[in-house]
Amino acid sequence: MRLDVVTIFPEYLEPLRVALLGKAIDKGLISVGVHNLRDWTHDVHKAVDDAPYGGGPGMVMKPTVWGPALDDVLAGPDGETDPDVLLVVPTPAGRRFDQATAQRWSKEKRIVFACGRYEGIDQRVFDDAARRVRVEEVSIGDYVLIGGEVAVLVMVEAVVRLLPGVLGNQASHQEDSFSDGLLEGPSYTRPAVWRDLEVPPVLLSGDHGKVARWRHEQSLERTRERRPDLLPSDD
Ligand code: SAM
Repeated sequence: MRLDVVTIFPEYLEPLRVALLGKAIDKGLISVGVHNLRDWTHDVHKAVDDAPYGGGPGMVMKPTVWGPALDDVLAGPDGETDPDVLLVVPTPAGRRFDQATAQRWSKEKRIVFACGRYEGIDQRVFDDAARRVRVEEVSIGDYVLIGGEVAVLVMVEAVVRLLPGVLGNQASHQEDSFSDGLLEGPSYTRPAVWRDLEVPPVLLSGDHGKVARWRHEQSLERTRERRPDLLPSDD
């Protein structure tokens, strides 16, 4: 899988090269390109933003910089737009990114992320890109960040850990929260008693059937308590 990120803060994406993501790069499972948007500016100040039409606070990122940047980054080896690319635009006004989105994107060959700052990017940048490639505007949650870089790190981690060969034990993501629609229950490791707190005895029983049933009950209970919205409604 090829991942490209366009940003005015390339250094924000350094963690992409750390830990499991870094190992995935070393193993050739993913390759990553981080591009500085300011490389596509032509003025002495390298300006990427301008005042919003219609007035209001803040600044909007300019289509005249983003357009040529995306033309180049969305291109394939022949210099033409690569029709297989998925362009992802992080924005609080997007559809919610979730585990199902991560699963779907893990089948993509190439994803390009466009990181907004200020009040966001001129909408025509994406309306124009959508004439050539698939575009998804997505939010990582109902809160507002300063920029799209952290959202990209979140989404890339969620997607890349699903790629075969990235996690040491492939089964681990199949048992994670959300993979069966529920939250995962509590986990324990040695010692069996710590600060007077005991590991639930069923986990020490060696009875795999019992353990599986207990885990499922815990998972249901936790979901009911913390995220009832994930459970099917009574009707
Ligand atoms: N004016 C925008 C609005 O109200 O929808 C907020 C812009 S925000 C200050 C600047 C950038 O941060 C956005 O363009 C986006 O890239 C990123 N961002 C902020 N919150 C986000 C979220 N919940 N999910 C994804 N990206 C987010």
